[in-house]
Amino acid sequence: MEMLLTVGAAFLFLFGSIAWGNQGKPAERVIELAPLGEVDANVLVHLKTHLEEILNAAVLLAKRKPVPKEAYDEKRQQYFSPSLLSLLRTSQTHPPTERIILGLVDEDAYTPGLNFVFGQAEPASGVCIVYLKRLRQSFYGLPEDKSLFLERTLKEAVHEIGHLLGLGHCPDPRCVMHFSNSLADTDRKDFRFCRACQERLK
Ligand SMILES: [Zn+2]
Ligand SMILES: [Zn+2]
Repeated sequence: MEMLLTVGAAFLFLFGSIAWGNQGKPAERVIELAPLGEVDANVLVHLKTHLEEILNAAVLLAKRKPVPKEAYDEKRQQYFSPSLLSLLRTSQTHPPTERIILGLVDEDAYTPGLNFVFGQAEPASGVCIVYLKRLRQSFYGLPEDKSLFLERTLKEAVHEIGHLLGLGHCPDPRCVMHFSNSLADTDRKDFRFCRACQERLK
């Protein structure tokens, strides 16, 4: 309980100041975290802190929405990612260059042609999404590792936002823009852009 209260307090404090990045200069971009269904407050706080620093962004928190039941595929027991992206698109009221919406869902999802996705981005509308379920050790029957889970979530978030900012996949296995075919790929890479990708962002 004490832990929960501490997180709640940090959460309010962190999301209280919104106009500035944490580098003491005006934020270059705005990122809106959009939870669909229950999302661990630790994830939101971790993403806010690090996305502000990595992307010099102001990070806002949108009101939580339920995960739409219609997007659930009973047979596959997964959500259909394009439906969730289109839901986020309807809440995008800014040009994609002015605001990025990052959907967060503690579920598993797929897209046509792939068995599952860790995340997906739609650069034309400035929305992207990260699925948390497969980022936990417990999904694979292993003991939970909270810091590893937060690290993976951050890497997937920076990766999808990188796509929205015009970056493609990077051949450097340490770069956050390297394609993750499995969690081993995710764990090998950093949560930052390599120098070449960082240059392309400017
Ligand atoms: Zn990618
Ligand atoms: Zn790179």
